[in-house]
Amino acid sequence: MYEERLSLLDTPISYLKGVGPKRAEVLGKELNLFTFSDLLHHFPFRYVDKTKLYVIRDITPDTQYIQLRGTIIGIEAINDGKTAKRFTATLRDQEGSLIELIWFKGISYMQQYIRRNTDYMVFGKPNFFKQKVSIAHPEMEMISEETDLSLDNRFEAIYSSTEKLRTQNLDSRGIHRLIKTLWERIGEQDLPEILPPDLLKTYQLMGRHAAYRNIHLPDNDQVIAKAEYRLKFDEFFLIQMRLLRQKTDRHHRLIGFKFDKVGDYFNTFYHQHLPFELTGAQKRVVKDIRRDTMTGMQMNRLVQGDVGSGKTMVALLAMLIALDNGFQTCMMAPTEILAQQHYEKLTELVQPIGLKVELLTGSVKGKKRRLLLESLQLGIIHILIGTHALLEDEVSFKNLGLVVVDEQHRFGVAQRARLWQKNEQPPHILVVTATPIPRTLAMTLYGDLDVSVIDELPPGRKPIVTYHARESQRLRVFGFIREELNKGRQTYIVYPLINESEKMSYQNLMDGYESISRAFPPPEFQISIVHGQMSAADKDFEMQRFKNRETHIMVATTVIEVGVDVPNASLMLIESAERFGLSQLHQLRGRVGRGAEQSYCVLMSGDKLTADGKRRLQTMVETNDGFQISEVDMELRGPGDMQGTQQSGMLQMRIANLAKDQQILQNARNAAADLLQNDPNLQQPEHTALLRYLQTADRQQGQSEWSRIS
Ligand code: ADP
Ligand code: MG
Repeated sequence: MYEERLSLLDTPISYLKGVGPKRAEVLGKELNLFTFSDLLHHFPFRYVDKTKLYVIRDITPDTQYIQLRGTIIGIEAINDGKTAKRFTATLRDQEGSLIELIWFKGISYMQQYIRRNTDYMVFGKPNFFKQKVSIAHPEMEMISEETDLSLDNRFEAIYSSTEKLRTQNLDSRGIHRLIKTLWERIGEQDLPEILPPDLLKTYQLMGRHAAYRNIHLPDNDQVIAKAEYRLKFDEFFLIQMRLLRQKTDRHHRLIGFKFDKVGDYFNTFYHQHLPFELTGAQKRVVKDIRRDTMTGMQMNRLVQGDVGSGKTMVALLAMLIALDNGFQTCMMAPTEILAQQHYEKLTELVQPIGLKVELLTGSVKGKKRRLLLESLQLGIIHILIGTHALLEDEVSFKNLGLVVVDEQHRFGVAQRARLWQKNEQPPHILVVTATPIPRTLAMTLYGDLDVSVIDELPPGRKPIVTYHARESQRLRVFGFIREELNKGRQTYIVYPLINESEKMSYQNLMDGYESISRAFPPPEFQISIVHGQMSAADKDFEMQRFKNRETHIMVATTVIEVGVDVPNASLMLIESAERFGLSQLHQLRGRVGRGAEQSYCVLMSGDKLTADGKRRLQTMVETNDGFQISEVDMELRGPGDMQGTQQSGMLQMRIANLAKDQQILQNARNAAADLLQNDPNLQQPEHTALLRYLQTADRQQGQSEWSRIS
């Protein structure tokens, strides 16, 4: 019965009355709508209040979407190749006032549909421009003898459509008609309640069937909000159920190496060679790792910590525990520079306890590579640091017990899965990321991982002071740089990569370099330059010079974003800062403030800034907290466009929004956790519908890739 009714929603869309093969094809191509279910989940993006008919005279600059009725008295198409193509129509209402309607797209269709001396209903948002009022791309409906003006819905849903769809008469209203037709066929049984009654009550949720009806065919705006809430809740809840079930499942099923002791490597290092006292947060995370790895389950832990919070040391201590238990470890970094730096740093740190650390990147070739791979297999190498090169099949360990993945978000999901498979028994995985992401995003992207946060910086660090400066203040900024240099500090000056043209970026950088060379001439000042078109060896050479204080200023593109650790550098000047995204600005700023001195970041921008640009720079000036910055970033860019999340299909939500619906997500997560706590296997009768629903969804999606990552 259940299965049979489900199949109604799986029906191909062409079987819907009014669709047919041609329209079905366009719906599939343009909107990815293939089945009844897809159509049902094509949610409106806003509503028009049709309880009111406006007159043009009443429109003010604050007027939102409105409904007008009137006669078209003039039309004009501009299409002469010089001016932008557009189509305009003048509408006169009952009082004789005029308004201009404008289209820049879908012109040929509109030219056919809009006729002089004919009456239309018009829906749209008025704009004021030079005292004239107009509506761009309004929804139009011709009024004929047969038009039924007693509209059956007082709030009409507006759907996204496309030009191609409009040629098939599937504008918003056309789609709305299809959904009405579909709704007539859908009964309560097709959208059975899947949440148990007590949960519905606790979170005051509208019933599932009612929610779908009211999102498409609402009677008033109160029900819209409730329907929206329920559907967003469902979307989050189902994701959280899957993530949490995977997590418990993994905990039960996956056997991991048991690190049952802490031995000499760890103890000797910790008590005799640790260069500083760990912060409370570092200690907490090391304890988390210790607890995970002694249970006999496989660890999958994400460590989030801001730049400079000391994640490397935590990773090293975790590796020492693995080594104490007779295992090898490896650490994977996203770039050669970073791998190289980890290699140098770790080699130096573990030198007194006699561990063998090696570096494997694409540039290790020939005999050296063969030897390295051999000793890896023999178990002679304790710690292998590397880039993507570690993923290649030829890289095999004797007994890999722990993998540390640094800056994890730069790796694709599939790549991580490969790492995972390097052993018959999966190694423990510690993912370390320096890009803080909002809590809601972490809950969704990493909901199946255990997460630790290093939310404390090593003591004695002074917060970086950030200024925003305009071109007109350049002389003062240069004066400031000079002051810092005279104190014996060093400075970074970073230029943006201008994506459209590599040549232009390069030119930009070189022009900057020249003007800086003039302002800070030798022999008093030495300048390094590093950019993406240099060979790795040349880059290294320059970075090394800067590190050794042979040069005072490092002029660079964003290649230094991850990579250099020069505690004596106390000033970061970012040119055209408005061109950078927030997380990149934060990463760049993190290159300073690594020593004991007061550090500064100067964000140089043009005089004209967009609202977003202004907000980004202001946020940087106001806070050093990466988590807070990431929240603003998500708000500005949307979750799908944030650094590192592009590959996640999970963020493509149908109705919920990770930036705006944080509270709903938190509720859904709590609800899912409570429910699983009471009934881990969903065996109670009131959970049967939910269990069936999840099973069907799993079957349909297959075991998706992300369920087995890191
Ligand atoms: P992250 O990788 O989190 O950005 P690092 O591990 O590179 O940070 O550490 C940043 C700097 O802080 C390094 O120079 C490191 O030696 C130092 N550091 C780390 N932990 C501490 C600590 N507990 N006390 C003092 N300095 C520390
Ligand atoms: Mg680091």
